[in-house]
Amino acid sequence: MQKVERVSATGKYFKDLFDGIVAIYKGMRLTFIYMFAPKVTEIYPDVKRPLPQRFRGRFAFLYDKEDGHMLCIGCYACVKVCPPQTIVLETHKGEDKKIKVDKYDINIGECISCSNCVEVCPVGALEMTHEFETATFEQSDLFYDMHKLAKYVEKPNMYIPPEPPKIKK
Ligand code: SF4
Ligand code: SF4
Repeated sequence: MQKVERVSATGKYFKDLFDGIVAIYKGMRLTFIYMFAPKVTEIYPDVKRPLPQRFRGRFAFLYDKEDGHMLCIGCYACVKVCPPQTIVLETHKGEDKKIKVDKYDINIGECISCSNCVEVCPVGALEMTHEFETATFEQSDLFYDMHKLAKYVEKPNMYIPPEPPKIKK
């Protein structure tokens, strides 16, 4: 037969009181530990933590700093690889038979910063920047043209593959 434990009302009162004190002690102990522990909260945007070198914010459309010419040759490779298809490129053939870029627009709200466009560009005309604060109240501010995307660089950002290893004959 199961033994029934009888607890008096006074006993239950002191047991509940003790449990309450223990619970408060546990909570306050943690509070005091974290009160004096080193702070991990950062006061963004007043304090901005350094971003990793390969962080991908919005991309930039590059121009040569020396003579100001755009590096893009209008090959449409970036347009084709963009997953949300957000790049709008318009070109025409100039009198010198070279492709001229008339329009290079993106909707930054659709861009997923995948960096496909940067990686596929044959002349290094695009670069991922560290700029990520592109939120806005106006939808029209999300449209970036080649002037808003412009970044002037000293050297083209071309990826130069390493020399292939020499095979001994
Ligand atoms: S980073 Fe990706 S999503 Fe953004 S424009 Fe380039 S290819 Fe498109
Ligand atoms: S891949 Fe590069 S060169 Fe080709 S259209 Fe895009 S930005 Fe211009």
